[in-house]
Amino acid sequence: MSEGEDKRESVEESRGLSGRVARALQEAASSGARVAERGGSRSEPIHYLWLHVCGEGLSGGGDKQGKTGLSLDEWLNVVDEAAALGARSVIVSAGEQLDTHAEIWNICQWAQDVHGMSVGVYVYGKGLPLSPNDLRALEGLDAGKTRLFVDGADLGEVQAVVDMGVPVYNADAIQSADERRPCQLPHSMTCVGSEGNLYTCGLVLGEENYRLGNVCEKRLDLIMSDRSLPHEIPQGIHREPRRCNACPPLMERLLRGEAGCG
Ligand code: SF4
Repeated sequence: MSEGEDKRESVEESRGLSGRVARALQEAASSGARVAERGGSRSEPIHYLWLHVCGEGLSGGGDKQGKTGLSLDEWLNVVDEAAALGARSVIVSAGEQLDTHAEIWNICQWAQDVHGMSVGVYVYGKGLPLSPNDLRALEGLDAGKTRLFVDGADLGEVQAVVDMGVPVYNADAIQSADERRPCQLPHSMTCVGSEGNLYTCGLVLGEENYRLGNVCEKRLDLIMSDRSLPHEIPQGIHREPRRCNACPPLMERLLRGEAGCG
């Protein structure tokens, strides 16, 4: 048994995850192998995964209990599929609902343990400061592969996380020059809403014109390679405050000290 298979088994055992997850993992792995075999048939590698676990829009959405549409198994399948397509980094936008979505920590741990991905969690407003339970869950992740993103206005709420040694970053993303040009960053990213709908990116989450498909109905690689779907954001779309916050490829650029989107 390889080290990777060994790790998968131990992660499944430790969480009591269902056999369905194991089957899904196998399917995702063979799906990835199929993608790799086809080589040029997939459009471009995905580098980033952006999950909006807590509602189809940043205002909350979801059902009355604030619960997500996708089950934990389905979220893990999304991570597996994206990892098979090359994603090495995932940001989970939890907004103000982190304390009612403990599955976020399972998703993060799965991404780290099974796929070696770096993970980020974006929390804001009433989601801060983190509860003792969430701090414990955060502490259980690999600190070297974990980041917390918060709005600039919330940076004073995260001292406990800083003390824990987890890097905290300002998620504020709007830059005046960015609105003057189309944004190509979605080409390298998969963005999934709480119901499993894929969108071009978080800016247009919940907008039908930018819905690319649903992860329960179609494979990620087919959606991402479909050139008839909108894989970029045209010039002039109004970028509301917060809508681009924590956008994975943008955050990566800003952390590297490069200019914003485009
Ligand atoms: S920077 Fe904004 S417009 Fe560009 S991909 Fe990210 S969320 Fe979308």
